[in-house]
Formats: sequence, structure tokens, C-alpha cells
Amino acid sequence: MKDAPLCVIGAGMAGLCTAIAAAPRPVLLLSRGDHALDCASALAQGGLAAAVGCDDSPDLHATDTLTAGAGDNDRKAVEWLTGSAPGTVTWLESLGIDFDHDQVGYLLAREGGHSRDRVLHLGGDASGSRLVGHLSHVAQKASHIVWKQGCDVDALGLAQDRVVSVRWRQRQKCHATACSAVVLAGGSVAGAFLDTTHPCSSDGAALMLALKAGASGRDLHYIQFHPTALFAQSAADSRMRLITEALRGAGAVLRDHRGHRFMLELHRDGELAPRDVCARGVWQAQLRDGWAWLHAEHLKIDWNRQFPTVLRTCLEAGVDPRKQALPIGVAAHYQVGGLACDLDGHTSVQGVFAVGEIASSGVHGANRLASNSLLEAATAGRRLGQMLSGLTPGPVPEAEHWVERGAPASGDQLACLRQMVQQYLGPLRDASEIRRGLQLVDEGGPLSGRWQAQLLAAIMRSALADPCSRGVHWWRGCTPSQQSVTA
Ligand SMILES: Cc1cc2nc3c(=O)[nH]c(=O)nc-3n(C[C@H](O)[C@H](O)[C@H](O)COP(=O)(O)OP(=O)(O)OC[C@H]3O[C@@H](n4cnc5c(N)ncnc54)[C@H](O)[C@@H]3O)c2cc1C
Repeated sequence: MKDAPLCVIGAGMAGLCTAIAAAPRPVLLLSRGDHALDCASALAQGGLAAAVGCDDSPDLHATDTLTAGAGDNDRKAVEWLTGSAPGTVTWLESLGIDFDHDQVGYLLAREGGHSRDRVLHLGGDASGSRLVGHLSHVAQKASHIVWKQGCDVDALGLAQDRVVSVRWRQRQKCHATACSAVVLAGGSVAGAFLDTTHPCSSDGAALMLALKAGASGRDLHYIQFHPTALFAQSAADSRMRLITEALRGAGAVLRDHRGHRFMLELHRDGELAPRDVCARGVWQAQLRDGWAWLHAEHLKIDWNRQFPTVLRTCLEAGVDPRKQALPIGVAAHYQVGGLACDLDGHTSVQGVFAVGEIASSGVHGANRLASNSLLEAATAGRRLGQMLSGLTPGPVPEAEHWVERGAPASGDQLACLRQMVQQYLGPLRDASEIRRGLQLVDEGGPLSGRWQAQLLAAIMRSALADPCSRGVHWWRGCTPSQQSVTA
């Protein structure tokens, strides 16, 4: 029996905020990437939503969040998030974050589903890398945090039904660390798709580990698709590059191959409709033509100041957004469901907390409102860190047994699984196809022993249990503008 640190798994926005807020409690922070920016948070372009404008209020922000979530949100959680948002901005500023502003106040952008200009950003569209870059610097300097990078947590140790230790591998070496509590901040499963805006490290590894340890999932099948990913995969990796929604906020429009501006028919807000409605419109255009077009060449904007990341990304892919339309398509972007937890991050397993994209507190409903995820990661991370800092650290028992994530898929198997995820769990779902997919991964074949296949099976089962067109996806037979229709 000995005193043990708090173990935070994941160093994106959620893990960093939790670890920083947990001071002075000793924290062991474990992350996979070899450097601080190696996480999905660092890729964020748009920014962080908060009702800080003079024409705005947390109530309006809550209304927009509930509308985007197709009424499936937990209203109390939404009111807590939007009400806490201005305080989160102040807290981040107290850590040295400098949101873009002019002499009058914050520069606020409009994104789809928001009824006000509400999105705070940094360096124009470099929000994620600036936020993570700064917070990782704060974490590295903090005396209560020990941060190990390049490590994979692949097992949890239990004693008396409570998680008491983690096992992690770093450069072929295996370590076990006793911990007073485990915070899972392991991010998304969206990187498991073929068409994704995520790095392939967003593979749901931490989610699978928690499910194996007996944690309950909630709405695992709610995956959000982004409507405007550049239709050109990078040479560096298989990720599709995001074209931020803020570009549509600045006036960019969507057209199909015939030049038709299809979003005007699908929603009164046109290109600024909630993300799921735009994704359906683009997906329909893709089914007809292969891809759709995003036109920004008419905008009178300062590309280098407002959208440096989009400009650089497009030029690297060989298209100039100042002169030509961008070929775009739908890509998996955000895991709306995840580990069921309350607002303090408690999961159904003792000693295990969840925060950030891996967590599902019900705040996003069936569809996350744009730029609410960095907000949630920071707000929930701060709350969880502060709550854990107040608990008296005590001795923890030795682990009695270990729960392992399981054997990984081989390279060929992974390629096959990515095809399957894309085919069966895209924005348009078909129950008989999903059942066929489930048989392929679940019935004793070569894939069934691999953890990635087991996670896919869990998501497919969750989809089959809820065959309802709601928010992020719809079932075959429903028109793109229909919502909340049972398929
Ligand atoms: C291209 C892109 C643009 C986006 N733009 C915006 C935006 O403008 N606004 C917004 O609000 N949201 C945006 N999002 C979503 C947002 O970035 C994420 O929802 C949020 O950052 C998730 O943060 P996180 O800390 O939960 O996860 P991540 O940032 O993904 O971090 C996960 C961490 O877990 C670690 N990890 C995972 N598994 C293990 C393991 N087994 N062992 C050890 N470590 C592990 C990883 O190494 C990483 O450090 C965007 C997402 C993408 C992909």
C-alpha cells in the first residue's frame, strides 16, 4: 500500500486542462505522440465557442446547442456548459492564452448552427496548435506534473472492482504505475474511418480499454461528419484536410457539379445550417457526382491573417482558394457518443473518469454544435482537475488482476477494418448492411480477436439498437432534410 499519483491518459485539450487544474495533486500525464502537438486538439482551426459578445448570452448559446443536438441533449449539462463558458475563457487567459482581439474586444467568428458571432480563435485559424502549444508549455513547467510522451496505455489494473493502476509501454519497455484515480482523455474514434479529418492515432484505443474494464458506453454510434474536408488526401498521411466552417461564416458557398447552390433548399440558414444538415447536403451531392465544391474565391478577406492554415493546406494540395473552387467531401470528424459519465467525469467503473471527446455527458445530444468541443474539453477538464485536486490522496492496493485492451490488428487487417467502418458507419446507415458487417467482425473470423474489430462491433451493435435518423446520421429511406424519423 502506498500513495499514488493521479494518472491522466491523453494530452490533448482535455488531458492538459485536467492535469493543470489538478494542482497541487501529483499527476502522471501519459500520451502517445512524440511531441506536444501530436493530438487532434492541435488541428482545430475554428476555435472555442463562448457567449462573450455584447449581443449574446449563455441562454442563446444553450438554445443553439440544443437545436444542433436534435433535442437529444441533457439540458442541465448544456446549461452548465454554456453558463461556464465565459469563465473558462477567463481561466484560459489566466494561464496566458491570448485570444485574437482588436482595440474594441474579441474577434468573434460565426460558425454553422450559431445564431451569434461566438467563436474565439487564435492566430486566425491556427486555434488548436496555439492552444495546445501554450497549455503544453504550462504543463511542462508545472512541478506537480510528470509527462511521459510516446507511450501507449494498454491495460488497467483492478482491485476490489476499482481501477488502481495502469500499464503503459514506451520504447518497447513495459511499465506499471499504481494510481489513485485514472482520467481517460484519450480522444476520438473518428480516425478509424477511411475518410477522416483525424490523425490515425484517434483510433479509440482508450475507449476500448475502458469498455473492456466494464465501463458503460453511451450513443457509441453517434459519429459527426464534417461537410467540408478537402477532397485530396495528403501525401504525408491519409488524413483529409479540414476547411473550417468559419470560411462559410465569412461567406463561402457550397455548389454541386452543375453550379447549383443546394444548401439553400435544405435549410433556411443555407451554408450556415447545423453541421449535420450541411453534411447531408454534401453527401447527397457526393452520391451523385463524387464530390461537391466550396467557393471562396469571391471573398474579400485577408487570407494570410484570417485563414493562414486553410490557405497553406490548399496550396500544398495544389488548389488556390483565392482563385478556384475547392473540391470537398464529407469526413468523419467527431465522436459525439462515448463513455457514459456525469458532469464530474465519473464513469460506471470506480476510479475511472472520462473527459473530452472520449466522454459522453449528454451535452452534445445527437450532434455537436461547432466549436463546443474545445469548450467542453477545457471546461470539463478544469472542473474534473479541480474536483480531483480536492480529494485526499490515500494509499491504493496492489492490482489483483489486469484488464488488457487486446491484440492489435495487423496492417492489412487495419486497412480492411477502415474500409468496413467507412462502409457501414457513414452518415447514411442501412440495418441489413450493418448486420452483415457485424457478422464479418464478430463471428470467430480472423478479425474477431483484434481490439479494433471488437470496438467496431460495439459501435455497430449500438447503431442497430437505435435505428433512428437523428442528428449526425440518418437511415436509408429518409430524405436528407428529415430529422428524428424512425427508419
Ligand atoms: C481537424 C480538426 C479540426 C477541429 N476543429 C475544432 C474547432 O475548431 N473547435 C472545436 O471545438 N473542436 C474542433 N475539433 C474537435 C476538437 O479538436 C476535439 O474534439 C478535441 O480537441 C478533443 O480533445 P481531447 O483532448 O479529448 O482529445 P485529443 O486532442 O485527440 O487528445 C487525445 C490524447 O490521448 C492520447 N491517447 C489516446 N490513446 C492513448 C493511449 N492508449 N495511451 C496513451 N495516450 C493515448 C493521444 O496521444 C492524445 O494525447 C476539431 C477536430 C479536428 C480533427
